[in-house]
Amino acid sequence: CGIVAYVGPKDAAPILLEGLQRLEYRGYDSAGVVVANKGLKMRKVKGRVADLAAAVPARFKGTTGIGHTRWATHGVPSDVNAHPHLSNDERIAVVHNGIIENADELRGKLEADGATFLSETDTEVLAHLIARTVKETDSLQEAVRLALKRVVGTYGIAVVDSERPGEVVVARNGSPIVLGIGEKEMFAASDVAALVRYTRQVVHLEDGELAVLRADGFSTFASDARETAKEPLTVDWEA
Ligand code: GLU
Repeated sequence: CGIVAYVGPKDAAPILLEGLQRLEYRGYDSAGVVVANKGLKMRKVKGRVADLAAAVPARFKGTTGIGHTRWATHGVPSDVNAHPHLSNDERIAVVHNGIIENADELRGKLEADGATFLSETDTEVLAHLIARTVKETDSLQEAVRLALKRVVGTYGIAVVDSERPGEVVVARNGSPIVLGIGEKEMFAASDVAALVRYTRQVVHLEDGELAVLRADGFSTFASDARETAKEPLTVDWEA
């Protein structure tokens, strides 16, 4: 339902929680965050963003992270089904808006390949798929691109890799993703409402596009891996 992502010099968790609060008006049943800092740290709960904030310890340090508010489509609202979802080696974390239509088929193949599923969600297939493709390539955006080629359905996603703690990859197909450009920091969200407190410089992804965010900027790619050129827009909005 709602996605927020951050990479920059600041602690990610307070920024993610604040962004998720700004997306609450859309409705949701659970919420979660992950930050990357020598491995991934994750908290996720059924309930309100305030409940999530209460579950995030003071020492939840990491300057790259992703957050989500979930509106369940596949699997009941629960702590376990809340996003993010992790790969079994806990290297990859994914948050997702939308519906993966071939999730059952992919799940069967991934289980045959040794994946253990912890949740009932369609989303979890993405974490296991990316964990496999990331071992075949030295770029996270290429790993995400290759994994998404096997997916049928709608998605806005944000992905972090514990081995690349300065990066977030986002992608969209049928579910919005907007990038926010800051001073030596980058944001992304499913809705510009989550960004306007931090920046007015935004870039909207098109369906099939993917972006890699780092503190010092971003690059966007088409589904055939060619880099795309994007002009930032200035949004005029009372925060
Ligand atoms: N289909 C996913 C799930 O049920 C994502 C739902 C959403 O868009 O929040 O977990």
